[in-house]
Amino acid sequence: MKAAVLHGYGEELVIEEIDVPRPRGEEVLIRVRGAGVCHSDLHLMDGEFGDELPATFPLVLGHEVSGVVEEAGEAASLHVSPGDEVLVYSFYCMGEDRYSVKGLHQICGLRTPAGVVMFNGGFAEYMLVPSYRYLVRVNGIGDLESAAILADAGLTAYRAVKKAAKYLDPDEPILIVGLGGTGLFGLAAARLLLPNPVVAVDINPRKVEQAAEIVEIREGIDHLIDGSSTDPRREVLTLLDGSSPKAVIDFVGLEKTIEDYLPLVAPEGVYVLVGLGSRYGPRIPSHHMIINEVTLTTVLYGSLPDLHELASLGLKGLIPYWRMTEKVGLEEINEAFRRLREGRAMKRQIVVP
Ligand SMILES: [Zn+2]
Repeated sequence: MKAAVLHGYGEELVIEEIDVPRPRGEEVLIRVRGAGVCHSDLHLMDGEFGDELPATFPLVLGHEVSGVVEEAGEAASLHVSPGDEVLVYSFYCMGEDRYSVKGLHQICGLRTPAGVVMFNGGFAEYMLVPSYRYLVRVNGIGDLESAAILADAGLTAYRAVKKAAKYLDPDEPILIVGLGGTGLFGLAAARLLLPNPVVAVDINPRKVEQAAEIVEIREGIDHLIDGSSTDPRREVLTLLDGSSPKAVIDFVGLEKTIEDYLPLVAPEGVYVLVGLGSRYGPRIPSHHMIINEVTLTTVLYGSLPDLHELASLGLKGLIPYWRMTEKVGLEEINEAFRRLREGRAMKRQIVVP
């Protein structure tokens, strides 16, 4: 089969022929239908995860994957059947601990995410998943290729909105920072899950326009801000009649976004940091946080139960995920990563091998 293989940090992916694995025991072989191109892959390729999640090479990347069950190992065949349409929950956990038994595999002590550490991911025609437990069935979902977005960008955004929601009364505004693939999904998830007024900002005016076309914006309640042409912080406060957002979800995570938007959070509010844009700390406005009892929290991917919930919403067509993706061939994958790195990717790019 064809696969995009990474042979070392700092290198491009190489399209090459590798053997199709055979599933045994609980393993399942899927025919990949979609695999999302993610910013985390860039951090991985640049060697930034080396200390915490060291990769073993050669490695097939791709941790946002949808596909069709091709063959199930003998212990998996009671649970999935060939032809089942599935999403892959990519944070495999190689053992049980107090987090994995709650479905929080993404923070379990033995996490070995697909396409990141040692298990091959989805930038290939086939992918071997170590257990049927990591598959969420979505038979009949429609656009299965685009549905890959639900398995990472969508899941992360969904968890971020759910975390922010715990801090919100129904009338309190929420601010979304960044309208790339994950932020756009976050905007849609906020509109689906919350009655709250939503304000969203991006410094790329085309991404702001695109968001207005994809997500239903309620006139006089929700607002999109083109941060390139205005002082976005002042614009947020003006549009909210001087009140501050109670929750901010930062899908960018650069020093600048944290320093700009954390001081905007209202008393008892929350700043949810999602984007891995900043490796080491920005200056944290601790005075503002302490005198207002503001919480800073983070989101990594999502839990297995989160993915089951989101898949169910996706199956019902409640979040227009199929409008948030653009599809690219496996041969184009290095160009797709260049577009992402340079900020030229308008939507979530999904590799269709
Ligand atoms: Zn990712």
